[in-house]
Order: sequence, then C-alpha cells, then structure tokens
Amino acid sequence: MDKIIQVKDKRFAVSIPSDRIQAEVKRVAEQINKEYEGQSPIFLAVLNGSFVFAADLLREITLPCEVSFVRLASYQGVSTTGTIREIMGLNLDITGRPIIIVEDIVDTGLTMAHMLETLKTHNPSSIDICTLLLKPGKLQVDLDIRYCCLQIPNDFIVGYGLDYDGFGRNTKDIYTLCDEG
Ligand code: 5GP
Repeated sequence: MDKIIQVKDKRFAVSIPSDRIQAEVKRVAEQINKEYEGQSPIFLAVLNGSFVFAADLLREITLPCEVSFVRLASYQGVSTTGTIREIMGLNLDITGRPIIIVEDIVDTGLTMAHMLETLKTHNPSSIDICTLLLKPGKLQVDLDIRYCCLQIPNDFIVGYGLDYDGFGRNTKDIYTLCDEG
C-alpha cells in the first residue's frame, strides 16, 4: 500500500523511497570523485531545496573541496512563477575554479540556464550541473546536465528538501502529488 502524507491542503504518495535516493546519491558522488580526481571543486548548493541533497552528497565526496550555499527565487505553490532573482550569497572567489552546482530539481531548466549565465561572468575554470532530480518532459532549454541522480515524470513532488508552499521538506522519502478530487 502506498504511503500517503498530507502537506497543507494536498495529499502526496511515496514515489521514491529513501534507500533508492541514497543509492543514486552515492552513485553520482562516486562518479564525481572519479571524474574530478586531482581537482579541488567548489560545490554551490542552491537553497532552499538542495540542503538535504547537498548534505548527503557532500558526505560521499572524497575530494578536497569547498561548499557554499546560494539562493535563487523559489516556487510559490505548485506552479512556476517564472520569476528568477539574482544569485545571493556567493561569498567565495570562484575565478579560475571548477564549479559544481548542486540543485534539487531541474524542471523547465530556466533557473539553471540563468544561473550558468551569471556564474560565467565570474570566470570559473569550468561549471557542471549536479541535480538530484530532472523532469526531462518539462525541459525548455538546452542544458548539459552532467550529473543527475533520478529522472522523474512531470508531476509535482515534495520531500527530501523539496517543499509545497514551505512545508514537506523534512521527509526521507520523495512524494508525488496525488490526483485531485
Ligand atoms: P525550473 O527553473 O527548472 O523550471 O525550476 C527549478 C526550480 O523549481 C527548482 O529548483 C524547484 O525549486 C522548483 N520545482 C520544480 N519542480 C518542482 C517540483 O515538482 N516540486 C517542488 N517542490 N519544486 C519544484
């Protein structure tokens, strides 16, 4: 039987259990450890949604690295507002350094595309994207996503750091919005 939770006025059912998430996070971390061998990257984790993913991912990274948390616009409710703000909290000098962006989910890809453009103006030596989740069916821009833990359908999800209207971030599993009505 599906595990159902209530977040504010909506019901969500488990779609990705914790052990599956952990296995995929470990797989991607191992890929990064291998492909960045001999380098010292800066991980830029995008708040708020990526805080759980970043914490799990970084504990599997064995490279000498730095971590910084940056902030962008976030969703209001269950549909995108289309508004994107500037990057805030970038307090490390990233010039000449390899950057790995740590994101919770790439949906239309507009947030990532904008972030890439802004980061490039700081002249890092390279930029890669590492996302927990990707909705390939929603992607609107041409993005090179080098590291991706899981691809999911177009449904709205919560848990493991992702929210619905501020709530639902504090679960170990990932949940999908149940059909309304
Ligand atoms: P994009 O710019 O790729 O359309 O949107 C990316 C951002 O939208 C993510 O960082 C995340 O904050 C939010 N987002 C997209 N899809 C979902 C979803 O299914 N659930 C939640 N909670 N946030 C989402």
